Amino acid sequence: METFEQHYTTMLQAIRTYAPNTDLDAVERAVRYADEKHKDQKRKDGSPYIIHPLAVAEIVAELGLDTDAIVGALLHDCIEDTTASHDEIAKLFGQSVAELVEGVTKLTRVEFSTREEQQVENLRKMFMAMSKDIRVVLIKICDRLHNQRTMEYQSKAKQISKSEETMDVYAPLAHRLGMQKIKWELEDNALQYLDPEGYHELMDYLDAHKAEAEAFMENVRKKISDKLSAVGIECEISGRIKHVYSIYRKMKEQNKTLDELYDLYAFRVIVESISDCYNVLGHIHEMFKLVPGRFKDYISTPKPNNYQSLHTTVIGEEGIPFEVQIRTREMHEIAENGIAAHWKYKEGMEAGEGKEFDWIRRLLDSQQETDAEDYLHSLKVDMFDDEVFVFSPKGKVISLPAGSTPIDFAYAIHSGVGNTMIGAKINNRIAGYDVQLHNGDVVEILTSKSAKGPSRDWLNICKSNQARSKIKQWFKKEKREENIARGKTSFEGELRRMNISPAMLQNEELLPQLLKKLSFESLDDMYAAIGYGGITAVKAIGKIREDLLKASRSEAAPKETKVLEIAQPIQQNRHGDSGVIVEDIDSCMIKFSRCCTPVPGDDIVGFITKGYGVSIHRRDCPNARAANNPDLAARWVNVSWVTSGDKPFATTLEVLAEDRDALLLDFATALTSQQIRMKEIVGKDMAGGRCQFTVTFEVKGLSQLTAVMNRLRAIEGVVEVKRGQN
Ligand code: MN
Repeated sequence: METFEQHYTTMLQAIRTYAPNTDLDAVERAVRYADEKHKDQKRKDGSPYIIHPLAVAEIVAELGLDTDAIVGALLHDCIEDTTASHDEIAKLFGQSVAELVEGVTKLTRVEFSTREEQQVENLRKMFMAMSKDIRVVLIKICDRLHNQRTMEYQSKAKQISKSEETMDVYAPLAHRLGMQKIKWELEDNALQYLDPEGYHELMDYLDAHKAEAEAFMENVRKKISDKLSAVGIECEISGRIKHVYSIYRKMKEQNKTLDELYDLYAFRVIVESISDCYNVLGHIHEMFKLVPGRFKDYISTPKPNNYQSLHTTVIGEEGIPFEVQIRTREMHEIAENGIAAHWKYKEGMEAGEGKEFDWIRRLLDSQQETDAEDYLHSLKVDMFDDEVFVFSPKGKVISLPAGSTPIDFAYAIHSGVGNTMIGAKINNRIAGYDVQLHNGDVVEILTSKSAKGPSRDWLNICKSNQARSKIKQWFKKEKREENIARGKTSFEGELRRMNISPAMLQNEELLPQLLKKLSFESLDDMYAAIGYGGITAVKAIGKIREDLLKASRSEAAPKETKVLEIAQPIQQNRHGDSGVIVEDIDSCMIKFSRCCTPVPGDDIVGFITKGYGVSIHRRDCPNARAANNPDLAARWVNVSWVTSGDKPFATTLEVLAEDRDALLLDFATALTSQQIRMKEIVGKDMAGGRCQFTVTFEVKGLSQLTAVMNRLRAIEGVVEVKRGQN
């Protein structure tokens, strides 16, 4: 039997290692308080109850959470199972701890048991929405992890129902919060109760092949490590066998036996920078044979839980496939501990530094001004602050935008329900149309065949776009004449406001041109659209404003000319070692313009800036063409290259390509083959399934750059490769 002392000691160890700033006095008081409250209770294995909260607090500490969360974990079952109250806990341990315990208690009381598949997602969201404070979710997940670890003492029926809940709600939530380590353990543990036979078969197989597997992994690890250190990339490499449930799921999904199963092994390469991630990818691809279709770029497209990495699967000399995940250290920390990682990051994080990820920033947004100590206390789960989850009378969970009303609910069920609505009940009581719904409300809509249809006021009451567009649709169909009159009034009023006479619309030469721009067949069609709210009068006028103004005036305004000075210093040097000499000027600051990033061999000109020396542009740079402007002619000077050919110059290329799987992989491989190491790569999606990359790297001169450009142009799907011109 496990003892209080054992658990108390390991919890303190976890606190010292992972949460060293914890207030140990508060922890000790909480342990004593919880022990006293639970003193008459025993766990299923006969040990004192306090062991459970101690173990949960240990897991919470391992995540590196704060004092309140650890104290909250120690007290998490007090309100539910003992005589302790919210007020008493607030008095002894503070309001914030009391609210954490209250939050965990609320979740404990709801059965998040499995219903239909499509409902599970909404149950997870309801779980999050009810939690309010993200630490409540984290404590509850740690609570479930310990319950799962000690599940052997429960009845068979309970083992199965709890393990199902773990698979359906807790593991996906841990995943959503990016907590990979806990997610894996929850899944592996639940699996042994849901399919004991399958689980043990798999474990036996892995045990039997352990020595083989370890030799293989060490060999691959060394090969990658040797190669990367030879090319001067600093990294950390580890290999592992994938976790049991992920192997199990793949066997089921692909209907394969273990021997046929594809990749059991995963290697992880952790490097310093994003560009090195792609550089490593290029080398891995050169060393091993690529398995097509398995490359995933979660760096340029992070997973919804903000997981970032490059994944590729390759085959080693032994013919054994394995996966390689490449990421930076920060990505790694986020991948392991997810949202909890931010507690660790905040310490090294200055306000506004921009290091933290967007989703964390979103969570922290409202806390930006308060200091670090304070914002932890008020950290809220606002992921679902913009949603509210309610039940239909039959128990279906409906998700609506926050602030939604019975009108939104009715249209979410069906437009027919909305259009015939005559009243609503919330939790079995008649409610107004404009009452705001809350999480967990049961909503019922009363309808009648003789209903007159929606009222225009509803457009102002409803919150969801769905309801709004369905209501507009109804007016569009049912009320054309009325819409035309309303639209005409509103459109002409707007014209007059801009001092344009509505009479201009009668101009027979102008009208067809206007209708074409507006994409309407007739003015009545447009008025009707404005009347039912399909387009606003302001927006419609915006499209034809220029034409109307042009028609009412005869001459256009004279054009202004402006010269841009974009040059930014990326290298500042005295001439001589800058690689460039300036005609007629002995000694001056030289900088290479960032807009066109010239390299030796390019035809270049210099521009004397105000106070920053001479900036060097390519002669074909759009900014250099401003030399034609006579006002500036005197500031352009002739310059020429003087380099030994060894000095690297940073330059930028813009690549336009059809977006496809493994595009960046081919890209990285191409650069590696030209001995080019990327310094920066930025990608964005373009229209028509295309994407554009701006990639920065160093070359010795134009001939090397030309070779790189030709190599990139040869990649399948690449449409255009050109020198950067910002
Ligand atoms: Mn518990």
